[in-house]
Amino acid sequence: MNKLTYLVITLLIIACTTTPFSGNRAFLLTSVETENRQGEEAYREILKKEKEITGSREAKMVEAVGKKIAAVANQPDFNWEFRTILSDTPNAFCLPGGKVAVYTAIFKYAKNEAGLATVMGHEIGHAIARHGGQRMSQSMAANIALAGISAIGLAKMDPNKRGLVMAALGVGVTYGLILPFSRAHETEADEIGLTLMAKAGYDPREAINFWDRFSKAGGKESVEFLSTHPGSEKRRDHLKSLLPKVMPEYEVSSQLGTGANI
Ligand SMILES: [Zn+2]
Repeated sequence: MNKLTYLVITLLIIACTTTPFSGNRAFLLTSVETENRQGEEAYREILKKEKEITGSREAKMVEAVGKKIAAVANQPDFNWEFRTILSDTPNAFCLPGGKVAVYTAIFKYAKNEAGLATVMGHEIGHAIARHGGQRMSQSMAANIALAGISAIGLAKMDPNKRGLVMAALGVGVTYGLILPFSRAHETEADEIGLTLMAKAGYDPREAINFWDRFSKAGGKESVEFLSTHPGSEKRRDHLKSLLPKVMPEYEVSSQLGTGANI
């Protein structure tokens, strides 16, 4: 084994972590601290641009569902926030560190708390599995524009680099950079999200109903989230196949069913 191979293998070993809830292995060169700091910075930047809603029934529901999920997510490094943004575009995200935003246009597909828990659980799943960090790590390993990002705050980066980081985190749309998560990341976020909603007390079978409603949505208003989150047969089959694993979690939880309607 030459020195370089040895170095690469060592790097891969130290850079591999196991993802909670899914048990998958992840390759990460970024630290939790860096990811969470960038998540926080990206969140502030987005909130500055968007119109936030506070105090409405829906905003309170987003917060209540979020807190129930956070209570079972076991993420001591997260500093959770759950915000509601007024928008005609159905969307939602969770940035590293537990910075969650739900866009009001998604309520009509969510319909009830369990639908909301499906969307929020899925997005939180991306954050718990550190998919943003994984995408930055892949870019760093490929030695392109993101090399050295850990040393710089988001605000101090040049706009191109900042756009790339935001895109890796899944919120690059304001920079014209929509980077859908890979199929593997989508599948993993679905698994984590389904587990979280069941543990939080929401009937996981409602996730299938949500994605059925959402995939029928179509129309220009839903292009963004729908294009990055197709409600395909594959997603449906995968969620169904996970039910035997997550139903026992639901049976020992508070069993809220669908929760209140939105
Ligand atoms: Zn996703």
